[in-house]
Amino acid sequence: MTYTLACKDAGVDCDFVAKGETEEQVLAEGIKHVKEVHGYTDEQVNDPKFLEESKKIIKKT
Ligand SMILES: [Zn+2]
Repeated sequence: MTYTLACKDAGVDCDFVAKGETEEQVLAEGIKHVKEVHGYTDEQVNDPKFLEESKKIIKKT
């Protein structure tokens, strides 16, 4: 099973897709990406709401 997290599913005009074997891995990839590319701060990525919303758009294939 592969987990994917697409930036565009968060409503961002970006083609980045994080892939991993666990939800945690994909979330970590996504967090790294939004910090590097979208300028998110540690505070923003540690916000429980942000994490919850991010988990909602993770897809299992
Ligand atoms: Zn992105």
